[in-house]
Amino acid sequence: MVSVYYKCRMRWCPSSVLHLLRCLRSRSCCRRGRNNRLPPWIRDTWAYMTVLARSLYFNSLTDSDVVFDSIFEPVFWTVDYVTRWFGMVFVCLVVLLTSSIVVIAYVVLLPLVLNTYSPAWIAWHVCYGHWNLIMIAFHYYKAAKTCPGYPPTEKNDRPFVSVCKKCIIPKPARTHHCGICNRCILKMDHHCPWLNNCVGHLNHRYFFSFCLFMTLGCVYCSISGRNLFLDAYNAIERFKHLDMEKPGIPVTGMGLLIGLFPPGQASYQTPAPPYTFKDKMINKSIIYMWVLTSTVGVALGALTIWHAVLISRGETSIERHINSKETKRMAKQGRVYRNPFSYGRLNNWKIFFGVEKRSHWVTRVLLPSGHAPHGDGLTWEAHQVKKDLIPV
Ligand SMILES: [Zn+2]
Ligand SMILES: [Zn+2]
Repeated sequence: MVSVYYKCRMRWCPSSVLHLLRCLRSRSCCRRGRNNRLPPWIRDTWAYMTVLARSLYFNSLTDSDVVFDSIFEPVFWTVDYVTRWFGMVFVCLVVLLTSSIVVIAYVVLLPLVLNTYSPAWIAWHVCYGHWNLIMIAFHYYKAAKTCPGYPPTEKNDRPFVSVCKKCIIPKPARTHHCGICNRCILKMDHHCPWLNNCVGHLNHRYFFSFCLFMTLGCVYCSISGRNLFLDAYNAIERFKHLDMEKPGIPVTGMGLLIGLFPPGQASYQTPAPPYTFKDKMINKSIIYMWVLTSTVGVALGALTIWHAVLISRGETSIERHINSKETKRMAKQGRVYRNPFSYGRLNNWKIFFGVEKRSHWVTRVLLPSGHAPHGDGLTWEAHQVKKDLIPV
């Protein structure tokens, strides 16, 4: 029975079981004198039980990374679970905040622009504002709703670089497993809680364009609303002080103590400030809009610049870590690491945006476009392009 068991184990984990058997044999040799006193059937059963127990935890591939992952698995699981659960909350937050800015722009700013600006400035603000708004809404919707791209689960003859330990399927190059989506993602960049979706091969362009146009929109609101913000802030501060100086009776000396008016003055009223509730709300809306757009503009601007740098290098966020590790490792050996998926700075941008001719810079980058990305995301040719893809 023991030999049958060994055969079964040999089929799927030969190296570990062989190692255990060697250990077992060497130990049994050492303890032969003592174990000899036991009946053979007890020794066999003991050997069988020992192998069985050790096969449950022995793994020749165990290293510090595996131990670290195992210890922190509950923490990772909790973070993944919370992110998954909060996904819709974050999406609703993005939609609500963006909608609030759009409502303020239409209700408060547009009438001001139409009443005070010259026709040329009115045309600029109306055209740019609407174009930017359409680009933000289109790219956000597409980034959130487009599937990032998954590797095939059925048998196929596509080349792959490893096997996912969680999905138990072959992983093509640049594919990574997302713990939140709980599946493998083609050319995975990261899981974005603000989209409640993974950013991968099929929606990476939408994600970047959304970040870019949202930053542009925030910078536009922040710059064009700067003077309005200062006026609104000063108005609120001015009337806050006036509110504190309530209309009343300027009595002094004994009059203050006994509550009498000065002689010849029955009452004294300061004129009520011409500051209505509507003015107050308009000023507060402008302050809210300026603070929100400036903050988001700076934070999202930094993120957009970082992603632009990665795209120029032909890397994803995950590959940035992998490549920097490889660069250090190879530098120690006196060698230079080169990213196999970088095809030159301009070509990386052309591939990223799917620009195949000059007009695409306008139709596919500056206008809403739902074209498919370059390649299928399953096969990647390393350093495939030596010259310019398109003579642009
Ligand atoms: Zn996976
Ligand atoms: Zn994901």
